[in-house]
This record gives sequence, structure tokens and C-alpha cells, in this order.
Amino acid sequence: MTPPLPLVESRMVGRYRVHAIQAGGQLLDGGAMFGVVPKPLWERRIPADARNRIAMGMRCLLVEHETGLILIDTGAGNKEPARFYEIYGIENGAPDGRTALEAGLASLGYAADDVAIVIDSHLHFDHAGGNTYHDADGALRLTFPRARYVVQAGEYAWATHPNERTAASYFDHNYVPVRDADRFDLVAGEQEIVPGVRVLPTPGHTPHHQSILLDGGGETALFAGDLVPTTAHLPLPWIMGYDVEPLVTLETKRRILARAAAEQWLLVFCHDATTAWGRIAHDGKAYTLAAGSG
Ligand SMILES: [Zn+2]
Repeated sequence: MTPPLPLVESRMVGRYRVHAIQAGGQLLDGGAMFGVVPKPLWERRIPADARNRIAMGMRCLLVEHETGLILIDTGAGNKEPARFYEIYGIENGAPDGRTALEAGLASLGYAADDVAIVIDSHLHFDHAGGNTYHDADGALRLTFPRARYVVQAGEYAWATHPNERTAASYFDHNYVPVRDADRFDLVAGEQEIVPGVRVLPTPGHTPHHQSILLDGGGETALFAGDLVPTTAHLPLPWIMGYDVEPLVTLETKRRILARAAAEQWLLVFCHDATTAWGRIAHDGKAYTLAAGSG
């Protein structure tokens, strides 16, 4: 299996050039990805393999902002044992041994040192695993040594106090070193990070999950994170079984997607294997991707 391609897709959002970097592929249980939605319905949208897994992406968004490069989410990184990546069907390496995220940055002419701000939607391993890395000697280092990292304070607290239901997604080595190096800006609620870039609380997947709103002037994009991981998750009740508060997700989606449709936001779909972004419309029954909206 190879990771979903293309590695990088670029476009403008108002005055900002943005790049969706496909930091890898994942194969996750289709039933878990769609919660209470029966398989005969979801498999029409995304077909399952013989082990009932569906192919997904693991997209990050790089924003060329006037204050510096902003990277939203960091993929799964390189720190887990091969067996772990096998379980989740994660393929996130470039042929030369770099991570796909590093290869994507390099293809745009950037290095990890160039990133000024990292915003984590939340701290699950497939979104924040690339915050840190193991160097050739096995030492744990910050992947973006010059960056400020941004996450909700509540998400940090949630991640560092896992319970039996949440522990499989949270690994301290993905975020505690960032805190120890005093590189985290732990924010609370909606906040402007730099002009044109705001974080919005979008609870449900985790209680302090955040989405990132980019106002480029005349055009707005939302990195929804795991609120709407793929285009197949646009209908309100199509909610992941992984969400810890699915009824909260439902109300967050109702509120955010109404705004996204009314204000014609470009939605970025982090886990979609093929579609990086698009605008949405309500067809009377459900939200759908607007034709030709990418
Ligand atoms: Zn995710």
C-alpha cells in the first residue's frame, strides 16, 4: 500500500497561499469511522477492504502567512514501533526515510526550521504525532524547533489525564516535550492566533477539539479537523465511533456547517483520501459537497 496522493495540493484562500500536505495514509475500521451508520449505507461512500478497513488520508495544512509559516496538524510522526503503524494501516514515510510531511514541506522549498507556528487541532497521535520525532540516535526532539505550538489548554489537560477509553490515542511523547520546552501556547476558547487566523472550539470528537478558521479577505477556509474528517461525514448524524461525545459533535456540526454553508467557507477534510477541500450546500436532506467547489 502506498499513501494517498498527491503529496501536496496548493491554492489561494483570499490573499493566503495554502498547501494541503498529505502526511500519510491510514486504514481504519469502517464501522468505527461511521459510528451508528450501518455498513450498507457507508460502504456506498467509501468501500471497505477484506478486513473491513477504509482508506483515509492524514492531511496537514500549511499557510503562507505574512508573519511566517503556519502548519496545522503534524501527522503521525516516526516514533512508534512498526507494529503500531501496521495496526492502524499508517503509511507515512517517504522512500528516502523522511516522513511524508517532511517530504511535502521540502517539495515546497521549506524545512522544519521555517515553520513559525504549529496549531494542533487536538493531540491524538494521527494529528500531533509529528510534533516531535526521534533523531538518528533515538533522542526525542521537537520537529519544529523555532515554532510556537498552539493547542487548547483543555485538550492538553485531557491528553495528559487519559482514561481507559481515551488512552489508546494519547502518547505523552507527542506533546509533553513541547510543554517541557515551554513552546506551547495553551489557549482557552475562541482566539485569534495571528491576524486572519482564529481557533474555534469544536467539541465532540474530544471535549476541547478545535478547528482553525483562516480569513484571507474575501475568502474563508476552515480546517475542520476531526469534526468532519471526510466528505462522507458531511451528513449531521454521520459521526465517528471514536468521538467521546457524539451528541456534542452533532450540535457542533449543526452550528458550524450552517455557518460554513451560509458564508461559503472552503472546508478542509483532513482524513479524506482523495478530496482535500470543497464548499458545501444543503440539498434539503443533508449537507453535501457543492459540485465543482474545490
Ligand atoms: Zn483524526
